[in-house]
Amino acid sequence: MLVTAGPTYEAIDPVRFIGNHSSGKMGFAIADQFASEGADVILIAGPVAIECKNKTVQRFNVTTAQQMYDACMKHSAKADVVVMAAAVADYTPVKTENKKIKKKEDTFQLNLKKNPDILAEMGKRKKKGQFLCGFALETNDEIENALKKLHTKKLDLIVLNSMKDAGAGFGYDTNKITLADASDKILTFELKSKEEVAADIVSYIISKIKLSGI
Ligand code: C5P
Repeated sequence: MLVTAGPTYEAIDPVRFIGNHSSGKMGFAIADQFASEGADVILIAGPVAIECKNKTVQRFNVTTAQQMYDACMKHSAKADVVVMAAAVADYTPVKTENKKIKKKEDTFQLNLKKNPDILAEMGKRKKKGQFLCGFALETNDEIENALKKLHTKKLDLIVLNSMKDAGAGFGYDTNKITLADASDKILTFELKSKEEVAADIVSYIISKIKLSGI
């Protein structure tokens, strides 16, 4: 199993970065849950302050989206299941300054370029029998956007978190998810602890794998 978790940090200069509020809790709970089911788990983690409970999880720490991409490409070919729970920065500075940027003008512009979409690339490279699961954090037209993502990135499953649900998403110990599969089947869950949500996601994936005979 290959799991990604946490944010990525994109350096602007030696002291500043572009990042997000992802705590890594959801991805770490998924890695732990797979490991407790007896799976060999590789976890690619962005900069987070948490640890896995299960000591059998093999963790690789990365900082940037490019590093996460490189680590994922290195390990994905041997994975039967890939779950990308990381909140990867979509853009990175065109140039990282090697000295701290001084404040001068009233306005300041930063040139950004697109980061590689790790999950989309994995969809392109998906080997026969590999199960690919992505996450979607949406603020509007949630199901429609999640399904679009599922199909364009060639996923088998997408986990939708809505920013509209109280207690769900970044930083919380709880989450409320909706699962959508490649045949557009939708399954909605109650607000639960991230450990319970991880158990739901993992048992759903395991049942799908058993059904497809992978
Ligand atoms: O397109 P969007 O960023 O909303 O898709 C979210 C999903 O894609 C998540 O599973 C996330 O881990 C993954 N992703 C990625 N590489 C990116 C951006 C998102 O793997 N550069």
